[in-house]
Amino acid sequence: MSMVDPKDCLFCKIVAGEIPAKKVYEDANSLAFLDINPRNPGHTLVIPKKHYETLFDMPENEAGDLFKVVKKMADVCKSGVKADGISIGQSNGRAAGQIVQHLHFHVIPRFATEGPVGLEGVLPVKKMDEPSMNKIVESLQKGTSAKPKEPAKPVKAAKEGEEEIDFKF
Ligand code: AMP
Ligand code: ZN
Repeated sequence: MSMVDPKDCLFCKIVAGEIPAKKVYEDANSLAFLDINPRNPGHTLVIPKKHYETLFDMPENEAGDLFKVVKKMADVCKSGVKADGISIGQSNGRAAGQIVQHLHFHVIPRFATEGPVGLEGVLPVKKMDEPSMNKIVESLQKGTSAKPKEPAKPVKAAKEGEEEIDFKF
């Protein structure tokens, strides 16, 4: 459920043309524009035109349209700034670091000169043993009708010295 009145939402104001933005692409349902604080040249945000605060608020049947634009912008950004790679980021909720409360995907051009820094540069790997992984996969499977055809393969526990985490269900 959305906490922000769309009338007060920054990105809704960009959709309405009330706040300027460097628009890159637009169709009936989605808009892509440059991030005002780019992580790299060409850093683009892709948003639904309708106000949804997070992915949890968006109906599943509207997600495909939005992701098509994410894919399109990945191609456009890669060739547009001659990037070597593209990172795609999307945060839902304060715990995930979401600041602007209107669903958005970050499409971020990446360059070989930066070195291969992925999400692991931000979040340390957590040490988890196999029983914990099995408990998690079971719990996740309960939440979806799309069960894998084969049983999930056990995942190797992380190496010694990696951060431990205590998940509560
Ligand atoms: P997040 O932390 O995922 O919520 O990121 C929000 C992003 O929105 C940040 O990268 C900001 O730089 C970007 N942002 C904030 N205001 C604007 C704006 N007026 N135009 C374009 N991007 C913005
Ligand atoms: Zn909004």
